[in-house]
Amino acid sequence: MAGLEDLYRDIIMDHYRSPRNRGELASPPALRAEGFNPLCGDEVILTFNVDDGHIADIAFGGQGCSISQAAASMLSGAVKGMSLAEVAALNSAFKVLMSIEGPADEIDDSAAELDTDGDVALGDLQALSGVVKFPVRIKCATLPFNTLLSGLDEAGLLS
Ligand code: ZN
Repeated sequence: MAGLEDLYRDIIMDHYRSPRNRGELASPPALRAEGFNPLCGDEVILTFNVDDGHIADIAFGGQGCSISQAAASMLSGAVKGMSLAEVAALNSAFKVLMSIEGPADEIDDSAAELDTDGDVALGDLQALSGVVKFPVRIKCATLPFNTLLSGLDEAGLLS
């Protein structure tokens, strides 16, 4: 599977070198959430607008390792336009990807169980699957999601 690992590495480095949605929205009115991963020194700052239960726009700033910043870029592209329920489902699917150890078919089964809407596509986030082999980096990969979820929670938007 070296070919797949190379592809995933290319996707991660593409997001790191050419980040999507990097910047900062005017806050307020945008919501703002900051996350830190002291294990690695990663910082992710998210600013995002929620309109009618959807992520209308999102931008990310901060600094850190290639995994954390690529994950923030992937997250921003994935959740833009999503409903908050879809964001929660995507977060669940991503956390399964980041925590399950074992054969790929077990990962697929577990992801399918969580996939209650029948359509949770991880997209480029799938490229971070190799991170599970390096447990210390999992917090780098999950930092952007955790930052977004805590920001939504603080704003009282998570039911
Ligand atoms: Zn890191």
